[in-house]
Amino acid sequence: MAEKSAAHVIIMGPQGAGKGTQAALIAPRLHLEHISTGDLFREVMAGDSELGQEIRSYVDRGALVPDALTIRMLMDHVDHVLGGESEMRGMLLDGFPRNQAQAEALDLALRERGDRLVSVVHVDVPRERLMERLTGRLVCPNCGATYHRGFNPPKVEGVCDVCGSSLIQRSDDTPEAVERRLSIYYEQTAPVLDYYRAKGLLLDVDGDRPIVDVSERIVEALLPKFDVD
Ligand code: ADP
Ligand code: AMP
Repeated sequence: MAEKSAAHVIIMGPQGAGKGTQAALIAPRLHLEHISTGDLFREVMAGDSELGQEIRSYVDRGALVPDALTIRMLMDHVDHVLGGESEMRGMLLDGFPRNQAQAEALDLALRERGDRLVSVVHVDVPRERLMERLTGRLVCPNCGATYHRGFNPPKVEGVCDVCGSSLIQRSDDTPEAVERRLSIYYEQTAPVLDYYRAKGLLLDVDGDRPIVDVSERIVEALLPKFDVD
C-alpha cells in the first residue's frame, strides 16, 4: 500500500482517440504517473513467460484480458509506483476501467487506499476517424512513444524521436482487431462514461483537433481541480 493518499485522473475514449498521446503530454505537467494497462500487458508479452502467452491470446485478437487478472496486475503496479518515495500526486489511468465491473473494482480499491478521483477526461473522436488513426499508428517498443505516419510523423522515418529505437506497428492494429476492439469499446466501455457523468466527474474534450490544442484544453480544465486540496 502507498503511505500517503493520492489524487487520480482517468483518461477515457475509444481506441485511437489519442489517450496515450495526450497522457504523455499532460502527465508531467499535472505531476501524475501515466499508467496504461495496455502498456503493462505489452511489457509482460515482450517476455516469454506463460503469463505473457496467456495475455497475448486475448490482446492479439482484440479481446479484453479477464477482469480479475487485469485488476490484480494494475493494483500491484499502482502500489509499486506510488509507494514509498514517489513525488507524484497520483496516477493518470489510461485504458482502465473498460467495463462496469472494472469501474466498481477501482472505486473499491481507491476507497481502501483513501484516495480521490479528481476527474475522468473523455477524449471524444467520431468513430469514422479512428480506423485511419489506428492503422497508421507507429509505436516505440522501447519507450512507448506514439506517432502516426501522416498526422504525427517522427523526425526521421521509422526512428523514435525520444530514444532512437526503431518504430513498429502494434500487432493488434490490424483492421480486423481494430473492428473488434471498437465494438467492445462501444458496447462495454462507453456506458462507463455515464457512470462517471452521474458522479459529476466527467470532462468531455473534443479530440478531433490538433494534438497540442487538445492537451492545452485538458490541462486548463484540470489544474483548478487539484487546487482545491
Ligand atoms: P489511444 O491511446 O487513445 O488508442 P493514441 O494516442 O495511440 O490513441 O493515438 C492513436 C493514433 O492517432 C496515433 O497514431 C497518434 O499519433 C494519432 N493521434 C493522436 N491524437 C491525434 C490528433 N489530435 N490528431 C490526429 N492524430 C492523432
Ligand atoms: P490499449 O493499449 O489500451 O489499446 O490496450 C491493448 C489491449 O490490451 C486491449 O485490446 C486488451 O486486449 C488489453 N487491455 C488493456 N487494458 C485492458 C483492460 N482494462 N481490461 C482488459 N483488457 C485490457
